[in-house]
Amino acid sequence: MMVRSLNHVSIITPEQIRQQVIWCNEHIIFGGNTLFFNSWIMSNVLFVDDLIDKQGNIRHELIIHRLKGRSNWINEMFMLINALPTSWRDALKEAVIEDLELPPILVKLKGSALCKSIDMVTTKEYYWSIVSTKFVKPWITGKWETLLNCPCNWSQIWYNRTLSLTQERHLSNFRYKFLHDILPNGVNLYKWQVATNNRCEICDTKNDICHMFIDCKRVKPLWHKVELLLTNKLNYHVQVSLRTLVCGLNTHNKRVNLLIIIAMYTIYKSWLLYKDTSKLKTVCLLKMLNTEVKKRMDNE
Ligand SMILES: [Zn+2]
Repeated sequence: MMVRSLNHVSIITPEQIRQQVIWCNEHIIFGGNTLFFNSWIMSNVLFVDDLIDKQGNIRHELIIHRLKGRSNWINEMFMLINALPTSWRDALKEAVIEDLELPPILVKLKGSALCKSIDMVTTKEYYWSIVSTKFVKPWITGKWETLLNCPCNWSQIWYNRTLSLTQERHLSNFRYKFLHDILPNGVNLYKWQVATNNRCEICDTKNDICHMFIDCKRVKPLWHKVELLLTNKLNYHVQVSLRTLVCGLNTHNKRVNLLIIIAMYTIYKSWLLYKDTSKLKTVCLLKMLNTEVKKRMDNE
């Protein structure tokens, strides 16, 4: 028996290939002969489609799972793979690529003006693109530099003026929130739809981070006290400003910058403890500052 299913078909489609009977097919030839594996036929492996997965590959494990008699399957599999026309296998794989065709993923490498398909980018090009890419600063650093109208040394701010000063989680967490401007001041509470307005209830003015820590009349005595402590105890003269709070002070004496952070934390803690405005007005920030400083700098 010889199956002559393709004799009159000059162009065959992948779908037609899948429908071809494997056995005794004149196009599936090994050693000059068509194939006829009885155990495969009894296992209902009849068509090319039974051999090929959706990606156009011969799936050995699926075929083995179907075969009822496996005494000579390795040899038979070898014969079958070699008997299938290469043109058929290529056509089946190409058909899958066309079916699954997705929009190309475009990438723009450093130093290149044009986008390139990701398939066309070599490993070497990726490497040099990454190596030549400079570190991108968090957006908040640009915001501070605009607000302070000067560039800031951020590695110094993050490490020398924050992490190296204290092991205390409360202080480093607070400092992180301060530098990212995510503290619960009036502006943020209003933005988060927690408050009905962004005003400071003591000064009746916009309560942004600058107001909360520097401009509010509630905190003025605290900074006056801090400036006195710095002068008298640590021999450092400064008029505290928003820049002082963000960048810290240029000194090797860690206690100077630690005192600034403790004072900032005291302001923040008072807001957390006394959300009721009437209590906030009467709370003595100087007493709180004294307590917070003593906890951490008991020599002062
Ligand atoms: Zn205020």
